[in-house]
Amino acid sequence: MAGIEGGGYGEKCGMVIVKARYLIPDPEQCIENGAVAINGAKIHRVGTFDEIKAWSDNNTLVDLGNAVILPGFINIHTHLDLTNLHNRIAPTNNFTHWVFQLLGARIRWKEADYTASIEKGIQLCLEAGTTTVADIANTEYSFSALKKSPLRKVVYKEIIDLNPDHVQDVILKVQSELSAYASDSLFRTGLSPHAPYSVSKELYQAMSQLAFQAGMPLCTHIAETQDEIAFLTNGTGNFPGFLRQLRAMPPDWQPLGLTPIHYLKGTGILENHPILIHCNYITDEEISLIKSSGASVAFCPRSHRFFGHTNHPVRKLLDAGINAGLGTDSLASNDTLSILDEMKFLLLHDAISAKDLLAMAAVNGAKALGMASEVGQIKEGFEADLCGIRLPDGNSGDVYGRLLDAGSKNIFTMVAGVICYQSSFPS
Ligand SMILES: [Zn+2]
Repeated sequence: MAGIEGGGYGEKCGMVIVKARYLIPDPEQCIENGAVAINGAKIHRVGTFDEIKAWSDNNTLVDLGNAVILPGFINIHTHLDLTNLHNRIAPTNNFTHWVFQLLGARIRWKEADYTASIEKGIQLCLEAGTTTVADIANTEYSFSALKKSPLRKVVYKEIIDLNPDHVQDVILKVQSELSAYASDSLFRTGLSPHAPYSVSKELYQAMSQLAFQAGMPLCTHIAETQDEIAFLTNGTGNFPGFLRQLRAMPPDWQPLGLTPIHYLKGTGILENHPILIHCNYITDEEISLIKSSGASVAFCPRSHRFFGHTNHPVRKLLDAGINAGLGTDSLASNDTLSILDEMKFLLLHDAISAKDLLAMAAVNGAKALGMASEVGQIKEGFEADLCGIRLPDGNSGDVYGRLLDAGSKNIFTMVAGVICYQSSFPS
């Protein structure tokens, strides 16, 4: 019989045992008839159900049945405020056209619209087995809605200003806004200077210093389009016209003659172990620069397809030993907020092994967010962040193959020992 005995949604129980047909505490280990004992917010014991049961049989039991218990997924790049734009933006390989569509689609949005969109995104993440998100906050509403949510999260303040004369004003504004949001056990703030075509070099430098002084994580969109490279290297492509239309192009702006990662190197950003979002168009030399800096890369596979980009260098990044995690990006360029769906897509299209995908979906994400000693693995003393993936019926193929089969589905999400989602499923 699969089901829950005792406890309930959102309730924090003293001691809970979650069991399932399989437990994969990290990509290299698979335990049949596995179980996890949880004490409060932390993982207390990990093993077979028989081992855990022998230790104590007096606890609340959650039996996930024909499922795999995994570390909760870590989505290292998303914009939850765009969730309600799903299917409102047409797929395009013209990025600036996409931005105009996006700006137009929410031109009349008010606080309630932003909040509803973010809250919908939070719910979709929990339903998909995601326990930690790295979200980009374009407005204050992302901070307030996410802070209240049961997800573990790093919320990055998005910073956009290409005029170097505005640097001091931007610093004061950012400091003032972030001072309203204190960190807690599930919530941290970070800084996201948006991209090289929307942030001046001087502002990147200032944000790098601010992040260093405040011990805040950093991320930035980088090497996303060929237009970005044309803009940075010689001031051509779609961006100059786009920025002039938005009245965001400083009159005396000059191209720096640098490709994106070289450009970032000159700002100090790379020294702060940032998450480099996308890295769709980078050279082998830039891969070496990323590797020596210790930066991580956020790869968003299905958003990458939405924009029609050419093959992503993800295999090269992994082979170079760079820490690469997975992001969904937003529903303005994707169909779901599911990291499991990203893994299934990558298995089919980029021939990355299931074990590498599991690492990208959890432990690599934890490293990227500076949380590798807290989450990303099911380990005694770690935070009790788990998900449970129901396997398709039948026994053909190994567990890793069935886990990433089209028919698998998340049925259980726990963050810090709290059951945040559990689907009804047959016994
Ligand atoms: Zn993004």
